[in-house]
Amino acid sequence: MPIATVNPANGETLRTFDALDEQGTERRVAAAHRAFQHYRTTDFAERARLLNRAADLLDADQRDIARTMTTEMGKPVKAARAEAAKCAKAMRWYAANAERLLADEHPDDTDVKDSGASRARVHYRPLGVVLAVMPWNFPLWQVMRFAAPALMAGNTGLLKHASNVPQTALYIEDLFTRAGFPEGCFQTLLVGSGAVEAVLRDPRVAAATLTGSEPAGRAVASVAGDEVKKTVLELGGSDPFVVLPSADVEKAADTAVTARVQNNGQSCIAAKRFIVHADVYDAFAERFTAGMRALTVGDPLEESTDVGPLSSEQGRTDLEELVHDALGKGATALCGGRRPDGLDRGWFYEPTVLTGITPAMRIHREETFGPVATLYRVADLDEAVELANDTPFGLSSNVWTRDEDEMERCVRDVEAGGVFFNGMTASHPALPFGGVKRSGYGRELAGHGIREFCNATTVWYG
Ligand code: NAP
Repeated sequence: MPIATVNPANGETLRTFDALDEQGTERRVAAAHRAFQHYRTTDFAERARLLNRAADLLDADQRDIARTMTTEMGKPVKAARAEAAKCAKAMRWYAANAERLLADEHPDDTDVKDSGASRARVHYRPLGVVLAVMPWNFPLWQVMRFAAPALMAGNTGLLKHASNVPQTALYIEDLFTRAGFPEGCFQTLLVGSGAVEAVLRDPRVAAATLTGSEPAGRAVASVAGDEVKKTVLELGGSDPFVVLPSADVEKAADTAVTARVQNNGQSCIAAKRFIVHADVYDAFAERFTAGMRALTVGDPLEESTDVGPLSSEQGRTDLEELVHDALGKGATALCGGRRPDGLDRGWFYEPTVLTGITPAMRIHREETFGPVATLYRVADLDEAVELANDTPFGLSSNVWTRDEDEMERCVRDVEAGGVFFNGMTASHPALPFGGVKRSGYGRELAGHGIREFCNATTVWYG
């Protein structure tokens, strides 16, 4: 894939970039390793000062970087500004909380004695240079939720961003440089995916994190496994959105629209499968379909746009194939199921609701990365949970009910990294984020996230 900015709203190639050659990559890996030797000894106050400064700069740049993101991958510009604001918030949160999250842990006195020690503690040290392989869909946020904790822990970072967001990738390196982080602390590698293996095998690189598709995760984890290096994988999702009879159905249906089409439907934690109890199915289906139909599809730089184009022509083709497969096998489109009229130059797709889904259809098991919802009718909670779990993925889940027993049942039985009741899944710096099954492993954000790339060192005193 060429490293280029191609505007998904009209297909125009705006800028192309040469990939770094081997020497360029080597210089950057060496700089990251060199920077780590000193940066790891800095204290939390100094790191926090730099990260807060980066957050301030990002706030000041918000409008410009939002337009860059929109031009590179097509998200509505108002959502791009919100993404930048969310990044600044997470940076400040880690600046304020990292020292507490990485404070020494002290085992119980009786256990310390039992181990034969006079005293003992667990001390968190940074691991070293961490390679981050990142996707285009939240081109700032995916990087920042790795970078903020990694830098606060004392690691240094190398970013291999998706090839279609090079300007955002270069902006992030520049942001950390302007904030005053020492040279080499955070660098962008403008390289294709074929260059990742060599970087990961380099002995100066300690670990890797990847957010992206399952094949990319498998490729990176295989190499890391061969090198016995730590990885965190944040992969795809096909989150269920379960609506039970006690729910506020109108609110559920309105939230369902947002949950499905956020980021033009290209979010790992977007609700994708809508599983609705028969008692409230008709009311939900009617309002949800009306809401999807009412969305404004168009130029993502327009403030009034709800849904912009898909990020690439291939992405739209993949989505169309899933829909055609389902319709060919008997599914019904309550709305959409086609490209919108009058938007021929970009990679647009109409918000779509499909019913009559069966396990024979690809869409039943595969991730829909675009504004396409599948709607299922179920007879009871047992069937809802069974269907919710009938997927290779396990990222997050949404359940709408006012019944505490039903909630506890879902906390126990829904196979996912999160269960969100009466609301849509969203990430927050203080809440761990990640999945199970084919959605990956490890966690980002909160204390869990910052400790992923730390060496939990046992310190024992005789
Ligand atoms: P992708 O094709 O897997 O790309 C993600 C990153 O991996 C890009 O930087 C890509 O580089 C690189 N890559 C691809 N194949 C690789 C390989 N064999 N070896 C090393 N690197 C490789 O995914 P995407 O299309 O950008 O993103 C969509 C997917 O990401 C969806 O499945 C979505 O659910 C998932 N996602 C998950 C989360 C989460 O938190 N769980 C968040 C967002 C997205 P190139 O661009 O150069 O190919």
